[in-house]
Amino acid sequence: MKRTAVIDIDNTLWQFCDALYGELTKGRPDFPPVERWIDAEFWKPFCSTKTFLATIDRINSDQNNDRFLPYPEARPFLETLRKEGFRIIIASHRRPETRSVTEAWLRRHGLVHDELHLSFDKTVLFDKAAAVVDDAPATLEQAAACGARAAGLLFPWNKAYVNNGFMLFPNLDQVLPYLLAPGPA
Ligand SMILES: [Mg+2]
Repeated sequence: MKRTAVIDIDNTLWQFCDALYGELTKGRPDFPPVERWIDAEFWKPFCSTKTFLATIDRINSDQNNDRFLPYPEARPFLETLRKEGFRIIIASHRRPETRSVTEAWLRRHGLVHDELHLSFDKTVLFDKAAAVVDDAPATLEQAAACGARAAGLLFPWNKAYVNNGFMLFPNLDQVLPYLLAPGPA
């Protein structure tokens, strides 16, 4: 049976936080810069939950935009995982209704995958996952607890959690050898 890799989109395949910062500062020019997004609740003094979630949804709903480009490493990263025998599930925390625009963006940039999972609970995939790549510390901790090899890109909001059973790297080229190393997850 093929090993399964569950790969996030936002802040894993592209720099979602920069788009989010750009949108949030339209309403609040004093919104703190990304370097100060050091936990999951950084936005709370600056905007309502409704505004924050609606802003994320607006970006997700406009995914196939000329300005929203994947990291240069994203395409070869996925191609290498596939060549190494992984079954790739791209899994993003977003409304299932954003499927067609998300698919169009993945296709446009040649981001290969076997399945696209869009929901607000990707952890349902972790029991069968050999590898999980994500930027959210809680998600990575859960993946590691399920026995997956868990890793992500290093950001201000996850760096304090790096000793919690997962690894963080500056780019996808450096995530790859960790996922491909022999041995148990
Ligand atoms: Mg993410």
